[in-house]
Amino acid sequence: MDELVSLCKRRGFIYQTNEIYGGLQGLYDYGPLGVELKNNLKNSWWSSMVYERDDVEGLDSSILTHPHVLKYSGHEETFTDPLVDCKDCKSRWRADHIKDNLCPSCGSDNLTEPRPFNLMFKTNVGPVDDGSNYAYLRPETAQQIFTNFKNIIDSTSRVLPFGIAQMGKAFRNEITPRNFIFRVREFEQMELEFFVEPGTDEVWHEKWVEKRIEWWENQGISKESIQIIDVPKKDLSHYSKKTIDIMYKFPHGVEELEGVANRTDFDIGSHTRHQKDFQIESKVIENEHSVTKLAIQNKKTNEWVIPFVIEPSAGVDRGVLAILNEAYKIEKFDDGKERTLLALKPHLSPIKAAIIPLKRNNDEIVAKALDIKRMLQNLKLGRVLLDNSGNIGKSYRRHDEIGTPMCITVDFQTLDDDTITVRDRDTMKQVRISCGEAPNYFQKNLL
Ligand code: ATP
Repeated sequence: MDELVSLCKRRGFIYQTNEIYGGLQGLYDYGPLGVELKNNLKNSWWSSMVYERDDVEGLDSSILTHPHVLKYSGHEETFTDPLVDCKDCKSRWRADHIKDNLCPSCGSDNLTEPRPFNLMFKTNVGPVDDGSNYAYLRPETAQQIFTNFKNIIDSTSRVLPFGIAQMGKAFRNEITPRNFIFRVREFEQMELEFFVEPGTDEVWHEKWVEKRIEWWENQGISKESIQIIDVPKKDLSHYSKKTIDIMYKFPHGVEELEGVANRTDFDIGSHTRHQKDFQIESKVIENEHSVTKLAIQNKKTNEWVIPFVIEPSAGVDRGVLAILNEAYKIEKFDDGKERTLLALKPHLSPIKAAIIPLKRNNDEIVAKALDIKRMLQNLKLGRVLLDNSGNIGKSYRRHDEIGTPMCITVDFQTLDDDTITVRDRDTMKQVRISCGEAPNYFQKNLL
């Protein structure tokens, strides 16, 4: 993990937040390359969830959330982790993360009994700070999907089954944020809430688990690094009938990358008004505040149904960490030399191609390189960089290390015969092609 963290900082993927003031624990910033990688991952998810399907709509809701939403969702009551204090060194820990009941910091067994600690961040809303007007920073993106359920069926005339997808920030006041961007206090989620007829939920749950594993493999996560866990009944969240966790072999251990839960009729059943008009299977809190009926009509039977929900919920930051970890390689050559390589899938690479002029001070060569950059950039397939550092060897090494799939060199021969050299990141093979062929070549190699 240390090597990866150092590469991320050195090359501009990920920095610690507010480092110039000593940092803030559990918070990170994505630098010039990190923001591209993260956006590419999110775009890939959005494309597979929304564009490539015809049964999913998108949403981008607010982060600040009405307390009633998180009261009826059960978060106010149950979104807690067990907290213990070490009476000797005064450190605080998550009880289920410590071994043999010993303080991980000083080794003492002088610990308090675990007590529930709510993970939600609360903030004051409006100009009066008397504690009565507050909202929560959403602890997951899901709840605002449920509260928009009626808006979306009214504006799209959807019938079951259909889904609503949302990506965005979530906030949890984790007791012990750690392992780089694996467990942080501000992170991004990619969540789909897929609404289905009760009775069809188990089949849909299986389908979504399969789909999600396939998608992670398409992002470069190898089958061998993934483990599937059927969460034991005693560990299930209060709303879940069954949850499959997609676990990844992170550098610090095997942990959750994504959870796929069968949330039953709990969510829509919790937030609807007139709950008694429906046969809600799950145990919901009696709702005294909702002003909206959230059921959907079965067009054949005319019956109003509270749908079941299948939820694939993935963390963007954990995804970035897993993808970086899979792609990171040190290759050793027969002559004893080595190179660092980030073998990212091209659709995820922060920079799609680097255009390198052989001589940084030769105006003709630099102008030609700029033309090629503009030509490829205009294809709008991601960032194409003019890399005018004047040292080809160094440029190749840098682009191998940040995962750029191809480097294009413009030299004196280019000025004579309009050809360029394209070097492939993974094989290091070079081919000479004409400038006219470049757009096609570029496009084909990015797929
Ligand atoms: P964990 O058991 O690891 O705390 P969780 O079961 O609480 O995770 P969920 O509530 O299912 O997580 O959230 C869905 C996804 O959001 C997780 O699979 C993970 O990828 C991501 N996630 C949750 N908490 C964090 C966090 N603190 N930092 C980064 N990503 C997170």
